[in-house]
Amino acid sequence: MDEKQRIWNAVLGEIELNISKPQFNTWIKNTYPIHLDNKEIVVSVSSTFTKDWLLNKFNSDILKSIQKITGQALFVRYVVQGVVKKNESSSVDNSNERKESNSIKSVIDLKSKKIEQKAINNIPQNNYSYNSNFNQSQNVIIPNQNSNALIRSNYTFDNFIVGPSNELAYAAAKSVAQNPGTLYNPLFIYGGVGLGKTHLIQSIANSVMSQGKSVLYVTSDEFISDLMKSIGGKTMDSFKRRYRVVDLLIIDDIQFIQGKEGTQQEVFNTFNELYGHNKQIIFTSDRPPSAIQQLSDRLKSRFEGGMIVDVTTPEFETRVAILKNKCVQKNFNIDDSILHVIADKVRSNVRELEGALNKIIARVQLLNIEITPDLVDKLIEGARVHTQRSISEQSIIDTVCEHFGIKKEDIMSKNRKKAISYARQIIMFLLREELKLSFPNIGQSLGGRDHSTVMHAYNKVSKDFKKDSPTQQDVNLIKNKLYNEI
Ligand code: ADP
Ligand code: MG
Repeated sequence: MDEKQRIWNAVLGEIELNISKPQFNTWIKNTYPIHLDNKEIVVSVSSTFTKDWLLNKFNSDILKSIQKITGQALFVRYVVQGVVKKNESSSVDNSNERKESNSIKSVIDLKSKKIEQKAINNIPQNNYSYNSNFNQSQNVIIPNQNSNALIRSNYTFDNFIVGPSNELAYAAAKSVAQNPGTLYNPLFIYGGVGLGKTHLIQSIANSVMSQGKSVLYVTSDEFISDLMKSIGGKTMDSFKRRYRVVDLLIIDDIQFIQGKEGTQQEVFNTFNELYGHNKQIIFTSDRPPSAIQQLSDRLKSRFEGGMIVDVTTPEFETRVAILKNKCVQKNFNIDDSILHVIADKVRSNVRELEGALNKIIARVQLLNIEITPDLVDKLIEGARVHTQRSISEQSIIDTVCEHFGIKKEDIMSKNRKKAISYARQIIMFLLREELKLSFPNIGQSLGGRDHSTVMHAYNKVSKDFKKDSPTQQDVNLIKNKLYNEI
């Protein structure tokens, strides 16, 4: 390994410690050093977003680790996509100059894999074969009116407040809206409920539609029911035309295709067709592809082949900014100090935040009273007690089963399959953490298990509950559902 690679690897190692894995894989992994001299290190990055992000967020960390390794204060310069401008090339290694960025390479790799896969898929899986031709004018699509009616015109980038919890997703979404079907394909956005996934992808839809391109937006439920109807009504040709001849296809909440093999097959075929024609595909999900159970490996690898970004819970400043923005939209004036109280009280997600604000506005307008921090407190606490009550032993068990796609009987049974044991352990953990039930009590509720088994499970999950671990992700997602779905 040469010197510049060694230095850059050390820098990456430091950054990796400070950000989540999807963020690292998406933004940082595909960077590589192309030149080093005694003044500077030149680093190729795959997009201007990565460049801005490194500069804004990590510049001082990066400079520090370089100094630590080399003992020198080197200047770092970023070059987008490894393409170096002519007048800069004198200071840059020519051998690497035309090297493709890793991200482009990975797209190409995926494409060649896709061709192999296509060969396999050409074995007819159903009774007809469909040969779409994007150049034929009869294939120009009129977007499905019903589905696109679900795209809300007020879900735009302008109305989306950006903060550390969503800036990567936002940047990726913007980039896709500007250049659909090019670098970030597919775009996969994941995160808990009410964190702005639908808002973001519909912003892309609105932007792409305004460029005169065809867009199809569906939730995975709609995709499934459309598919069922088309199979039943023998109208698969028109189904395929609808889904495969658009410039942008968005499937929201894709996690619901878990365990549905036929649907997965159709998503896979649709994906390949669109991808092969450089058409953009976007998915959202409440969890990363790796955490979607019963998902075929080939579809998982398609999801993972593009850009994966997450949205997380917004921090205080972002929550305040969102509230302010909503007030402006509603043309309603509330004092900042009141917005601070709301933002402090409601931390779980943006939907709840909006709900609390709406409730307060409604109350004020109805009763024509003045808003005070006390009133805000009461209204929000009232909502919270209601939410708390809805958490029960049963709702925990149901939510965990639904999350993992596992039957309740299996949880109660002696079945020791890995997936089932894991779900059972998470239930035990949550019953203890959220409801403070005793270990013997929990054992009793879950098919008469010994209290030591429950204790062991609780300790194991607690131990695995590290930052960004799959266990933490599962537990957070489940809690999010538990507390949001009353
Ligand atoms: P998800 O699809 O992740 O469940 P949504 O996109 O439906 O979440 O968001 C829930 C609500 O919160 C929507 O009304 C949306 O406009 C709003 N929202 C979420 N994030 C933001 C944000 N960053 N800025 C402004 N509004 C937001
Ligand atoms: Mg949504």
